[in-house]
Amino acid sequence: MIQKNQKNHVHFGGFMLSLLQKSDIKCSKCLYDKSVKSGIIKGRQHYKCKECGSNYTVELKSTAKPKSLKKQALHLYLEGLGSRSIGRFLGVSNVSVLHWIKDFWKRIR
Ligand SMILES: [Zn+2]
Repeated sequence: MIQKNQKNHVHFGGFMLSLLQKSDIKCSKCLYDKSVKSGIIKGRQHYKCKECGSNYTVELKSTAKPKSLKKQALHLYLEGLGSRSIGRFLGVSNVSVLHWIKDFWKRIR
């Protein structure tokens, strides 16, 4: 039992670490976060995605939250984190997080 708990803890710690280390720079198409700088155009840093090859800028922000962010929020919620902590972690408002959690409960009911 203790071993299992320790394993879960390590897994959770790794997950948190990967969240912290993740950069905000993500491909707008595939959300892959590994990119190369492709130059500055009109004062904006452009990046080229290493995964799908599309070009994007960091300023391009869509109002719709990517699915992976919602998934991460729910993962953290199920790990026992509060909506405020999750919001801080993912850089979204805790209202959004609460909305996702509500949505989640609706769907599994
Ligand atoms: Zn991409």
